[in-house]
This record gives sequence, C-alpha cells and structure tokens, in this order.
Amino acid sequence: MPERIYNFSPGPATLPYEVLEQAAKDVVNFQDTGIGLIETSHRSKEFMAVIDEAEALLRELMEIPDNYKVLFLQGGASSQFYMIPMNLLSKDQKATYLNTGTWSKKSIKEAQLFGKVDVAYSSEEQSFNRVPEDSEYTVADDSEYLYFVSNNTIYGTQFQQMPKSEKMLISDMSSDILSRKIDVSKFGLIFAGAQKNLGPAGVTLVIIREDLLDRAPAAIPTMLKYKTHADKGSMFNTPPTFPIYIVAHVLRWLKDKGGVVAMEEANREKAALLYQAIDATDYYRGHAEVASRSNMNISFNLPTAELEQKFIAEAAAVGLSGLKGHRSIGGCRASIYNAFPREGVVKLVEFMQQFQANNPA
Ligand SMILES: *Cc1c(COP(=O)(O)O)cnc(C)c1O
Repeated sequence: MPERIYNFSPGPATLPYEVLEQAAKDVVNFQDTGIGLIETSHRSKEFMAVIDEAEALLRELMEIPDNYKVLFLQGGASSQFYMIPMNLLSKDQKATYLNTGTWSKKSIKEAQLFGKVDVAYSSEEQSFNRVPEDSEYTVADDSEYLYFVSNNTIYGTQFQQMPKSEKMLISDMSSDILSRKIDVSKFGLIFAGAQKNLGPAGVTLVIIREDLLDRAPAAIPTMLKYKTHADKGSMFNTPPTFPIYIVAHVLRWLKDKGGVVAMEEANREKAALLYQAIDATDYYRGHAEVASRSNMNISFNLPTAELEQKFIAEAAAVGLSGLKGHRSIGGCRASIYNAFPREGVVKLVEFMQQFQANNPA
C-alpha cells in the first residue's frame, strides 16, 4: 500500500483500500474485456452482473424483505427530499417530520411544497445537539408517515433506537446505512446517498415497499416516479455505472468483514475510543448530548476557535485530514464510517492528548 493518510472527511469519505485498487484496474480494463469499466455499456452482461450483485448483496446484508424494491438513483440524497413527498403525499394529506438538523430541515421545506407537514419535534433551539425519545413527540392519527434522519452527519447525533410508531417510517440513512442492524420491515422507504458509507458520490440508494409504488399522482414527471425505476430495475435510463460498481465492491468487502453485525461492533468500539478521550477532560467538549451520540460523526469543540484552527492544521500536518467541523456549527468533527480504520482513531486520540499538553487552555 502506498502512503495513505487518515481521512476523517464526512463525505465523500474513506473507502476500503482494496476496493480502490481493484477499481483502478477495472477502470482501465474491465474484467479483461479490453474495455474500461466506465466505457462499458450499462446493458452489457458484465455490467448487468455488477448491478445484480449490488442488489443481491444489499438484500442479504440488510435482510431486505421480498416486498421491497432496491433502486439505484441519481440526484443525490437531496433529490429524495422532494421525491418522497411528490410520490407519497398530496395537498390534503399530512406527514410527520422530526427536525434534528440541517438535512431534516431541508426535507421539511421540500415536503411543504406537496402536503401538510407536522413538525412534531425540533432540537433546533439546542443547536441540534440531541434527537428525541419516542415520548417527546406525537404522530397524528391522520399522518401518512413519520420521517426522520437516523444519523445527523453535521451535529453528530444518532437515533440509538429507531422511533416506534404505528405509522410507516421513512428515513434518511445517508450517513449510517449498513453501520448497524435495522429492521427494514418497519420502514416504507429508506434512502442513502452513497458517498458516506457506501461508495462514491453519484448514486443514491432507495429501498421502497412495493405497495407504495402505485401511490404517486399521474401528473409527475416520469423520471421522478419511483415506479418508473422499480419497473425497469434502475435501468429506465443510463444508471451511474461507476458508483454502482464501487457500491457492489464495498458490499463485498463488508460481507467479507463479517457483515453488518461486525460493522456495528467495530463502529461502537471506534466511537467509544474517541468519546472516552473527549470525556476524559474539559478541554474537549462533545457537541451531542451523551444519549444522542453518533457512532459515525463525532463533533467536538476546543476551548477557543483559535485553538480549533490550530488543532485542525496541526492534525493535517501529521496525516489526520478532514477534521474541520461543518460551517454551520464550526469546531471539529471526526467522521469514522465503516471503512475508516481503527488505527486512525487511535492516532487521533494520541494526537488529542499531545495537543492538549502542548496548548493549555
Ligand atoms: C450528506 C447528506 C445528505 C445530502 O446528500 P447529497 O447526496 O449531497 O444530496 C443528506 N442527508 C444526510 C443525512 C447526509 O449526511
């Protein structure tokens, strides 16, 4: 392996090195066909095998029931903010949203274009440092679905338990899909932009319960109907072949490493190392309330903004890259998705201790 530094970027983010290496070969000459991967027809038997494998692995790893479709779409996770209400909500219908950060706020805004939106909970006034318990909000009887972001990438909060509700759940799992075991059957729809935990930017995974496909009003564009893509196996138009190829290989890697259960254990352990370092001193302060802490994104502050800047610069100089917090909250953030190695977390913890000793508050 050539010299790799530790990349704490929130997304696009660290991918397994062996996947990158294989992809580098296949881009030039895909499976010895004499044609590069990104030159290969999406209708070729070689690519069809790739997309079929991606779907099959996903079904296996997430234990997706047969009455769900798996779609590979474009437009980023952000396009799901409007596609969901466009397909599943009408003007006189209501949906319930939990406002736990930037990404839920953006989806609330889009949903309001299509139907009535009940924001049943918001942690905005506490700068989104927590997610709610079930007892902290109510879902109206006439609500079509309960929408939430399972992991808030920017604020570093995560639902430890999925909300329990009579209503079908819809979740943006962009930054924690496949990081832990979930029960897909509780959901009407799950989506995730690939660039955090699945692959490169350019493909968005949608898992949708079949009976929802016929809900869409007739007067919406063909490309924006889930049914269009479900009926054609994500081949209604040219799918993003390269990102799908990477997703297939990341899923192979994940299965090889022991699947979702092994990931969950490793993720919990990696995050615990960092939270222990934060809790060991008043110098570092975690942004999230303890009960809402994310195992994927750890957002924290130092005593001053100047020290934070110095911390980020000095960390980068020793090969710990991408620790700058999101512009909306500042501070620092370590994103440690499935493919982020434990050694990098250990190195960051050592760096944190050293930095504090060298730079007293
Ligand atoms: C990054 C992110 C998004 C936005 O993804 P795009 O693909 O850039 O649209 C949405 N939701 C969550 C939870 C994210 O982390």
